[in-house]
Amino acid sequence: MAMRSQAERRAAMVERNIARRGIRSPLVLEALGAVPREQFLPAALGEFAYDDAPLPIDEGQTISQPYIVALMTEALGLQGGERVLEIGTGSGYAAAVLAHIAKDVYTVERYGQLATKAADTLSHLGYGNVHVLHGDGTLGWPEHAPYDAIVVAAGGPSVPEALKAQLKVGGRLVIPVGADRGLQELVRVTRRSQHDYQQEDLADVRFVPLVGAEGWAPERPDDIPPPAPPPRRRSRDADLELVESIRAACEPFQDIETVDLNPLLARIGDARVVLLGEASHGTSEFYRMRERISRELIERRGFSFVAIEGDWPDAARVDHYVRHAEYPPSEWTAFARFPTWMWRNEEVRRFVDWLRDHNQQLEPQRRVTFRGLDLYSLYNSIRSVLAYLDQVDPHTARVARLRYGCLTPWEADPATYGRAALTGQYETCETKVVAMLNTLRSKQQAYAEHDGERFLDAMQNAQLVANAEQYYRIMYYGSRASWNLRDGHMFDTLKNLLEFYGPDSRGIVWAHNSHVGDSIATEMSHRGEYNIGHLCKQEFGRAAFSIGFGTHDGTVAAASDWDGPMQTMKVTPSLANSYEALCHEAGEQQFLLSLRAPSSPELLAGLSRPRLERAIGVIYRPETELQSHYFQADLTRQFDEYIWFDRTHAVTPLQVQMLAGLPDTYPFGV
Ligand code: SAH
Repeated sequence: MAMRSQAERRAAMVERNIARRGIRSPLVLEALGAVPREQFLPAALGEFAYDDAPLPIDEGQTISQPYIVALMTEALGLQGGERVLEIGTGSGYAAAVLAHIAKDVYTVERYGQLATKAADTLSHLGYGNVHVLHGDGTLGWPEHAPYDAIVVAAGGPSVPEALKAQLKVGGRLVIPVGADRGLQELVRVTRRSQHDYQQEDLADVRFVPLVGAEGWAPERPDDIPPPAPPPRRRSRDADLELVESIRAACEPFQDIETVDLNPLLARIGDARVVLLGEASHGTSEFYRMRERISRELIERRGFSFVAIEGDWPDAARVDHYVRHAEYPPSEWTAFARFPTWMWRNEEVRRFVDWLRDHNQQLEPQRRVTFRGLDLYSLYNSIRSVLAYLDQVDPHTARVARLRYGCLTPWEADPATYGRAALTGQYETCETKVVAMLNTLRSKQQAYAEHDGERFLDAMQNAQLVANAEQYYRIMYYGSRASWNLRDGHMFDTLKNLLEFYGPDSRGIVWAHNSHVGDSIATEMSHRGEYNIGHLCKQEFGRAAFSIGFGTHDGTVAAASDWDGPMQTMKVTPSLANSYEALCHEAGEQQFLLSLRAPSSPELLAGLSRPRLERAIGVIYRPETELQSHYFQADLTRQFDEYIWFDRTHAVTPLQVQMLAGLPDTYPFGV
């Protein structure tokens, strides 16, 4: 693809990320289309100027996401010619957008260094109608009041009275407000008369805190605006030093089979949950290293189960196999849904075979189990619940058939159920699936008496059905709600397992980096999303240990589109300025890097500055890699440990002929 100019990228962003997301005001669209955002960013970030994402600027602050700037500006209802007050100049970008529409823009910033720099950039670009003040914006800028519109680019605990007072009658004030320092509701306050203010909620947002007299207190006593700008090193030099500290701190190894994992096990200590990530869903090295670590944890630390980012009933099939359970072979194929290569591959099969051998020597009740955390198996879970009830309680089985029948028409494509239920064309099945879950729960005493394991299995399936039903309905509200529901389900399943196996039990989780790394450290949290890694940190603190994986280049198994065929694709070398690029430059083929106990303060400081990180899922689109696969993260807060493979290879999917001669209980039928 030919390199596009910044102007072309800007136009594309305005079209794709602003206009198509519902911003209609021609004045706002024009302004966004005119301001050169790259000029407001540190030089190294210029290439991301039109990504429609917030990006880091100095003093730990951020330049707002263009869409949010557009949304807030539109909410001000400007017609042209107004006097506008902005609180939180930051880079000066939003002030420039406002200056295209308003007559005069007064903007206040609490960090002197940012104020000076923004004033320079703005005057350099010819924005003569923007006036910058260094000070506490929660007090407004009374000399130029009253204002037609006021916009606050940082989140406060409440709407500052000083700002309300400086609004003209008829004027609008847009501000993020929330009881949490980092999560807010965007509200618009309209001054209807001298004493009458009307307030509306506009959207959920995430802004840096508004710190000041009518805002939050500084987080640390030393978090006061510095008097003079400290000298800053050029970032390239800083990166070279950082690469040096990575090289000094990392523990290189030759081979996955022979790597000495004692230092890692010491760092893991007696963690109750170890979360093993992956930077793609189709990389052999990640699977093999997870296997190696899991074997150590099972053999030497008594871990009792492995729970994967796969569906519960599918994993149950593997579980029967590895624990030598006497179940008749099932009629359906485990892991048959897209993307089949994610679990039906040679690497997983090796681990499964090892687990089966390992379990052979153990008493049945001490065998290590294999579980699934995910919730995409609505219909297989229904079948499992029915099969269970047919055996233990045929009367309840009949009730269950009636209730679950509500979902039967949608088996071919459950997403259409969500749409039909949402638009009211079809009754929702919510009460029925929840009633079924409650029925099962109420029979715990009677059922679990025969066989606690099988009761756990039925309960998990009934829970899965209830959550999946909800999942398909809320999918249409946007990705946040469904993502959180899914990770919440995975976390609850994990907790149920720990409870089931008792207070001394320990579990291993295999899931993508985007699930196991703490979401608070990534862009996900800006969208209000959380994940199992975050929930584990909250629940278990240091007893949850999360390991991230990364790679520079090589090949990966992935598809170009959802439901598309698996391909072996080339992984593009990592982008400059990413964590991956730093690790690559460290020059070792593979290494372990402790992030929980970094060996030097420089390493900790260097790796804690947000940077790009790559995530490849089941889909890989190298053509739009930056937009599709990179996000901002703070590695040290995301993971406790990072494992690097400079060059990686695609997994080997299982072929039919490989399965010849295996017992018919073998779970990976093709
Ligand atoms: N509009 C900016 C976004 C900046 S982020 C842009 O487009 O780049 C919010 C900014 O608000 C930060 O720079 C932060 O330092 C500043 N801020 C926080 N509390 C403030 C206060 N009380 N007065 C003025 N600025 C404040």
